[in-house]
Amino acid sequence: METKEYINNAIKTESRDFTAIGGRLQSVENQRLLHGGIGLATEAGEFLDALKKHVFYGKELDKVNLREEMGDIFWYCAIIADQLDVDFADVMERNITKLKARYGEKFSETKANTRDLDTERQILEN
Ligand SMILES: [Mg+2]
Repeated sequence: METKEYINNAIKTESRDFTAIGGRLQSVENQRLLHGGIGLATEAGEFLDALKKHVFYGKELDKVNLREEMGDIFWYCAIIADQLDVDFADVMERNITKLKARYGEKFSETKANTRDLDTERQILEN
């Protein structure tokens, strides 16, 4: 496939209603959630970069830096938590309840591959 053909086919599936997208970006809620989401992705990238340099390039593992990146991730989580009006304790509790429904008390590959998504969703909604 030629490059131009690939690009032309790819953009056929791009969301291109930029008026609607721009309208949704006017919302402070969406701006804060997008800021938080982009921040989580970039900080996760920084965490992985430090780990990559250790594992693949032999650089000394910088646990201080990894902890710093965890803090940065929490900072973005705080923005998201504030915007969603949820607290970390509630999020943590729902997460563990969901995982117990999925795995019981112990991970297994079988359970990981046979998830009951309806039950997990009900746990997260209650
Ligand atoms: Mg950082």
